[in-house]
Amino acid sequence: MSRLNSVIRRLQAQRDCLNASAVMIDGLEGIVLEIGLGNGRTFDHLREIMPDREIYVFDRQINAHPKCIPADDHLFLGDIFETLPKACEQFKGKVALVHSDVGTGDEALNAKIASFIGNTLPLALIKGAIVASDQKIDVPGTIAEPLPEGVPQDRYFFRRFQ
Ligand code: SAM
Repeated sequence: MSRLNSVIRRLQAQRDCLNASAVMIDGLEGIVLEIGLGNGRTFDHLREIMPDREIYVFDRQINAHPKCIPADDHLFLGDIFETLPKACEQFKGKVALVHSDVGTGDEALNAKIASFIGNTLPLALIKGAIVASDQKIDVPGTIAEPLPEGVPQDRYFFRRFQ
C-alpha cells in the first residue's frame, strides 16, 4: 500500500473512532478530555461533532493551527504527568469521554504514558464513560468495546467505564 493510502486509512479510522465514541456517549452528561492537541485536528473534529460538550485539552506545547487552539481556560498546558492528575481531581466524576492521542515512536515511553493515563483517569470518569485511544490503555474499572466496522484491530482502542 502506498504511504499516501496508508495515511488516508489511518486518518479515516481515527475519524470513524471519534464519530463512534460521540455516539457511544450519547445520553451521558459529562465533559470531554482531549489528551494530545498536536496540530489540533482531532480537537477540531471533536468540537464539530459535539458542539454542546465542554472539551478540555492537554499538551505540553502549542503547535496547533491558529483556528484550533482551545481557550486558555480549557487548556492544560504542560506535561500530562503533572497536569492530568490535577485535572482529574478538578473533574472528579464528570468526564464522559477521553480521547488520548499521545503516541510517540518510542514504545517504552508509550507504555509508561499509557500506564500513567490508565491509572489516573478512573477518578474523573462517570459510569458509562468511554476512553478512546491510539495506544492500548488499561484503565481499571473498564471493559473493552468493539471498534467501528472496518477499523482494523489494534488501530484504536475503546474502553467503557463500568
Ligand atoms: N490529536 C492531535 C491531532 O489530531 O492533531 C495529534 C496529537 S500528536 C500525535 C501527540 C501530542 O501529544 C503532541 O502534540 C505532543 O506534544 C503531546 N504529548 C506527548 N507526550 C506528552 C506529555 N507527556 N505531556 C503533554 N503532552 C504530550
